[in-house]
Amino acid sequence: MSNVLIVAEQFDGKLRKASLHALGAGQQLAARTGGALHVALLGHGIAEAARGLAGFGATVHVADHPALAHGLAEAAAPVVVQIARDCGATLVGAAATAAGKDLLPRAAALLGAGMATEVLGLGGAGPAILFRRPMWAGNVVAEVEITTPVKVFTVRPTEFAPAAAGAAGEVRAVAVGIDAAALRTRSVDFQVVKSERPELTEARVVVSGGRGTKGDFKAVEALADALGGAVGASRAAVDAGWAPNDWQVGQTGKVVAPELYVAAGISGAIQHVAGMKGSRVIVAVNKDPEAPIFQVADYGLVADLFQVLPALAERVKASR
Ligand SMILES: Cc1cc2nc3c(=O)[nH]c(=O)nc-3n(C[C@H](O)[C@H](O)[C@H](O)COP(=O)(O)OP(=O)(O)OC[C@H]3O[C@@H](n4cnc5c(N)ncnc54)[C@H](O)[C@@H]3O)c2cc1C
Repeated sequence: MSNVLIVAEQFDGKLRKASLHALGAGQQLAARTGGALHVALLGHGIAEAARGLAGFGATVHVADHPALAHGLAEAAAPVVVQIARDCGATLVGAAATAAGKDLLPRAAALLGAGMATEVLGLGGAGPAILFRRPMWAGNVVAEVEITTPVKVFTVRPTEFAPAAAGAAGEVRAVAVGIDAAALRTRSVDFQVVKSERPELTEARVVVSGGRGTKGDFKAVEALADALGGAVGASRAAVDAGWAPNDWQVGQTGKVVAPELYVAAGISGAIQHVAGMKGSRVIVAVNKDPEAPIFQVADYGLVADLFQVLPALAERVKASR
């Protein structure tokens, strides 16, 4: 029997929403394999986040240690391995966030496990799990079988529903022994980007601008603010220095799946589409009727974004 371990993520003692989607994948796996569901939470001062994990039918393993405060993967990976072995997990996963992508490959190496990254769904039948994952910027979806006894994976949070409420699980403290002096990495500084807007990957609405903005993001930002959404950008806009790096949506940026995605002055290159095609409703504003973005858009406006976006923002404000 395969027990399942999901590594949850917290920031500043608060549970990250992406973890609940990873836990949703964990619930599916536990149901298919008949195994028990476990969740690991690592950090320092994380009691509140641990309580947030208790109602999903999983045993919660809480590793609270000062050396785990800054999310150093070198410190955390052996703790994940310890918890995986203690709970007999043969399936070990997390959300494919920046932290998950840093931590899980190290844990996989220590466990001698094969790994599937950015998993979009689960194939196969019963306990024989196949992991569906994108290749070639999402143009090909492969079904991957992992043949090692322990299997490690990261899931795209946008592709799995959040965990369903379940029985209250036991919360267990994990005895952690970390020799902080022996670590070869240390946290030097952490600069948080503070914004009134929602986090890009968690926003209900994302309004993104591309090269068509010619560097003027005011109309994009104003519409995002009118809709209470986040601002995104194409790589062309980021590379030109018009938008910060953490706004980039796409293959080498963030993967988003909001209820509404507005692409303004974005042509719709496959690398951009790979990061937003899971959005529920896609609206494209582009002057070129042949732009490939219209192939994935639910609503397309062949128009100048500098006219359309302010008009939309006014309408949205007036309707409130
Ligand atoms: C390995 C690799 C990884 C990549 N990763 C990413 C990624 O993560 N994310 C990403 O976005 N790209 C990525 N790219 C780049 C990608 O291939 C495209 O170059 C990029 O997405 C183009 O950005 P864009 O649509 O803003 O610019 P363009 O392709 O130049 O399109 C600009 C669009 O704006 C329209 N326009 C111009 N003026 C107006 C106006 N006034 N009103 C309305 N429309 C207007 C034009 O008609 C045009 O369609 C990657 C490329 C590679 C090779």
